[in-house]
Formats: sequence, structure tokens, C-alpha cells
Amino acid sequence: MMKKRTLISLAFCFLPLASNFSCVQKFQTFQMPRPYAVEKIAGQAKQERPKNIILMVGDGMSLATMYTAWTANQGHLNIENCQYVGLAKTTSANRLITDSAAAGTAFATGRKTDNGHVGVDADEKPQASILEIAKQHGLAAGLVVTCNILDATPAVFVAKKGDRHQWSDIASQYVAGDVDFVCGGGWSNFKNGKDGRDLTKELAGKGYQLPRTVEELEKISKGKVFALIADDNLPKPKERGEALSRAAMKAIELLSKNDQGFFMMIEGSMIDDGGHDNDLDRLMNEVHDFDRTIGKVLQWAAKDGGTLVVVTADHETGGWTLLGGDITSGKVKGKFSTDDHSGVMVPVYSFGPKAEVFTGIFENTDLFNKMLAAYGFGTK
Ligand SMILES: [Zn+2]
Repeated sequence: MMKKRTLISLAFCFLPLASNFSCVQKFQTFQMPRPYAVEKIAGQAKQERPKNIILMVGDGMSLATMYTAWTANQGHLNIENCQYVGLAKTTSANRLITDSAAAGTAFATGRKTDNGHVGVDADEKPQASILEIAKQHGLAAGLVVTCNILDATPAVFVAKKGDRHQWSDIASQYVAGDVDFVCGGGWSNFKNGKDGRDLTKELAGKGYQLPRTVEELEKISKGKVFALIADDNLPKPKERGEALSRAAMKAIELLSKNDQGFFMMIEGSMIDDGGHDNDLDRLMNEVHDFDRTIGKVLQWAAKDGGTLVVVTADHETGGWTLLGGDITSGKVKGKFSTDDHSGVMVPVYSFGPKAEVFTGIFENTDLFNKMLAAYGFGTK
């Protein structure tokens, strides 16, 4: 998500008297009440190529964020079980500092595009996403997020739109699309579609089951799912509990019934909000929720042996810097430098068959190329 407070902050920075005060950020501290357990997960690829790919995106997550979350959890994170690490460059077609729409389009379709564009290149030409290509090859596909499903990162896999904020059009494109499993927020948008359309009814007409809670979702044992479990974004981690990992594991259960394999994107969507809001507590709770989900996914993938898991971010948000703390007590202390995105390469962690190709320094568009090649579909 992107907020438009940067201009206001900048305006304050240029006021002569207010400048020093408003531009110097305050220290923030965080300590977890209880660290969570992290298991060693040994991955053994049982086949040369992955049958399934699970792409996990921490929206706005940086190396500094991860290291802070690692310190706060007293020196443990599930993501450390990933066998390989690389770095992806994140510039968009028209900006040094990308937004989620352009970054998502880059790794979903292999094309750099302008900020704000969803699933289209810089000339607004629609581009096929890895999810759609996987479907064309007979695979199942899923999207599991904690934000409104119409937000940029999930939307880039399904929608084609020059403006990420045209949510009613993006909603219609989901209905016209063919994703087997969707879970996130956005019930109000689908219920109150453009021109009086009730898109929830249209989805039901297309054979989708529409559970409204994680509990209802967990009762489903087969078929297509469109779970809009919040009116808009899901609530904060303390209120939503383990919704992300529960939905992700249900998605894996259902999608893995397809003999051809599956593609799925799981997003820790609101790590970005912690950065935009300069809220360390929120940032840490969101990263830890995402990391616990990574742990569950890696455990499943290790057992499966034919699943490639790639964990990355679209960009950094908040310019977070860890400036002190202590691993034994899990206390962390640091500062934010912006309420917007910042420019930095993002880490790429990988696990499972073909994980080794996600090493080195590459463009975010190469994530698409590498995933496609890992499946054996060839590159475009
Ligand atoms: Zn953002």
C-alpha cells in the first residue's frame, strides 16, 4: 500500500524552523513478549525440477527489517532455513524507487513497467503473468494475502490495468480470471461492484465457494475457493491471529490435489504498512507473522520434495535502521528515515528444487524468468 504523506513531510522539512525537529526521527524500541520456536528444516529436493512453486512476498520487507525481526526473536527466524540467497534490483521503468504495482508486475510478468501499472508494460500492453502461464500448462493457481485482494501485489498476477487504483475494474478481472484459490480481504468491493453488480454472486455462479472466515475456509475439502475474509484489509496480526498461515496451508492442501502441480503467491502484505506508518511494533508483528507462515510452508515443502519456495520483497518501506538491541532479551532499537519506499536491492531466499538459480545479483524481472525456467516452461 502507498500513502501520500511524503509531500507533507517534505514540506515540513523545508520550513526553516521546523526542519531539524520534524526530519529527525525518534528512536523506537520493541521487545517480543514471547519469542516463537524455530525448527531446523532440511530440504531434500526429490526431483530435478519443481512441480510446484510458492512465491512468498514480504511487501516492504528489507534485510534490515529481517535482521531486526531475527534479533527480536532472540536470534531465530524460519527464513534461515532457505538454502540459497540472492539480491534483486527493484527500479521500475520510470522511477528509481518502485511501488508495489511496478515491482509486482516485474516479478509476475518479467516486464519492467511504470509505477502504478498492474500487469501491463510501460506502454500499457497487457502481459501474461506466471500464474496465468502456469494455468495454461494445466497447473492450479492460488493467491493468499493479508490485504485487500484488489491491492497491487496480488492484482498483478490477474489484472491488466494502467492504474492500480481502478479497483472495480480489477475486481471484474478477478471474476473473469481463473484463479483456483483466492484468500484475502475485499468483500465490500466485490459485493458492491461497478454499476450495481454483485460480484460475489457472479463468483458463486462460476462455481467458487465463498467462505467469510478462516474457520469456514478450513472446512472446505475440495473445489474452487474465493475467500474474502475481511471487508477491506485484514485486521492487524494480534486480531487476525494465524489467518495467513492457516489460509496458506489450506491453499496448499487444495492446490496440491492437482497432479500437474501448482503456482501460488503468498503475501505478508502489511509489513509495508508498518513501514509507512513508522510503527515498529506493527512492522515486527507483521514480519513475525510472515516468518511463521514461511516456517509452515517450508516444512510442507521439505516433506514434499518437489516444491520450490522463493521468498522475497518488492521494495523496502520506511528506511528502517537497527541501531541497537540485544539478542538475549530480544530488545531492538532503531529509527525510520521515511514514511515511503526507499531504494535498495531486496533479498531473495530460495528452498527446494532449482533453488540454486536464485543466487547472485539480478533484476526483479529475472524472478519471473527464473521461475518459468525452473518449471521448464522456457522464457519469453
Ligand atoms: Zn508501500
